[in-house]
Amino acid sequence: MHAGAGWGRRECRNGGVRIPPHCVAAVIERFGGKLRVASRRRAEAGGAGRPAPGSRSKGQRALEQGALLAARVCMGGVARSLERGIDDASDVLGALAGAGAGYALADLVSGLVHWACDRFGSPDTPVLGPRLIAPFREHHDRPSAMLEHDFVELVGSSFLAVAALWAASWLLVSEHGPAWQAFALALGLATGLTNVAHRWAHIPEPPRAVAWLQRRGLLLAPEEHALHHQPPFATHYCVTTGWWNGLLLRSGVLTWLESRLRKVDGRPRAPRGRPPEVRN
Ligand SMILES: [Zn+2]
Ligand SMILES: [Zn+2]
Repeated sequence: MHAGAGWGRRECRNGGVRIPPHCVAAVIERFGGKLRVASRRRAEAGGAGRPAPGSRSKGQRALEQGALLAARVCMGGVARSLERGIDDASDVLGALAGAGAGYALADLVSGLVHWACDRFGSPDTPVLGPRLIAPFREHHDRPSAMLEHDFVELVGSSFLAVAALWAASWLLVSEHGPAWQAFALALGLATGLTNVAHRWAHIPEPPRAVAWLQRRGLLLAPEEHALHHQPPFATHYCVTTGWWNGLLLRSGVLTWLESRLRKVDGRPRAPRGRPPEVRN
């Protein structure tokens, strides 16, 4: 799939790198390989249920593949900055705190992006429509379609933004210490792989380790996400861990924000899959 495959695997085997994020790249590659194999087997079996051909243009796919390659390169730079910045135990604690904060924030990012794409614009919206909004709308029409997506289609759009984040973190703010670099790595990984967590929440029998993490709330639980696919189809947008769903719902901040934006930009379009009585 990507140029430079095996980058993370080689670094880990040589043992010359002490920072776990390098190893994570190997996990990403291995997981992506499994998805590609599954996708190929489905295609060989007749391609039943495959999303409509052309839903992703060749240009868009090439862009997403380029984003994954750029993200991989930049991730290495951020990981090396993190490694250089760790001198003592306090640096390790700072890095752990930064990683935790990044992981937590990724869930909020997923919720805000998901909410915006469900509630505003359309697949025909220039630039963002086909790349970002269309997949969310397709997901409401056919929630199981994402089970058939390969790794690039599943995470490529997300890594467009993550590549920019990691490039900035690596090249512009590398002197900000290990806490920031760990924060950027965790935020980027969890944001880039959000749709992997989302996908696992739609799998009837996920891997045992994933099910364990879901039961402990460290990954999006199926029952938590099922609330998003039920009327009124307008809550529980967070799809990484689901940690922010309760706060966003109880605070009413998204409803308030949407009412303000409607005054500025007209009525947002409802996602498909909403019941007719509440469809805009
Ligand atoms: Zn949605
Ligand atoms: Zn879903």
